[in-house]
Amino acid sequence: MSGGTGVSKVNTDNKILECPRDKTTMDQVEVGEAHLDRCGKCGGQFFDSGEMFAAFGVKADPSYWDREEAGGAVKDHSFACPRCRKHMLAQDVKYEKDSVEIDRCGHCGGVWLDKGEVETIMAIGEKIKPILDAQTAKAKEELDKMGDVDFGNAGLIARFLGLFSKKK
Ligand SMILES: [Zn+2]
Ligand SMILES: [Zn+2]
Repeated sequence: MSGGTGVSKVNTDNKILECPRDKTTMDQVEVGEAHLDRCGKCGGQFFDSGEMFAAFGVKADPSYWDREEAGGAVKDHSFACPRCRKHMLAQDVKYEKDSVEIDRCGHCGGVWLDKGEVETIMAIGEKIKPILDAQTAKAKEELDKMGDVDFGNAGLIARFLGLFSKKK
């Protein structure tokens, strides 16, 4: 497709993106509560920050797979983020026999998944869930010992978990 004056907008607050692999204009598809950009040619999908959760639930959320247990190497990558045009990074996510190399943007927080990769990510999230649950329980226990803490404050627990899974 070659732009021009009569370009139709699917969604007013979401510009139409180009597939970073084959430059095909992507379609916007509604999945769960997210509007994903999906390439009809290669089947890849772009998730804006927060959209993995919105589309597929907690097991697809980076909090489940972007962890030390699934910690793969991050390396520089060749394509530009379809959203903000910044250079993306490739990250290995693996756990047991599942492994996948995803592309993510450190600038806008977007994630690019090739066809089939979301299934692998969710399989990994499923397996990591018990580890995360155990850590959350342990963190709450530790916080309990510390005395009067408001558990309604999710940010506090997240920060506390950060102490357990320090990386970098
Ligand atoms: Zn494509
Ligand atoms: Zn970006």
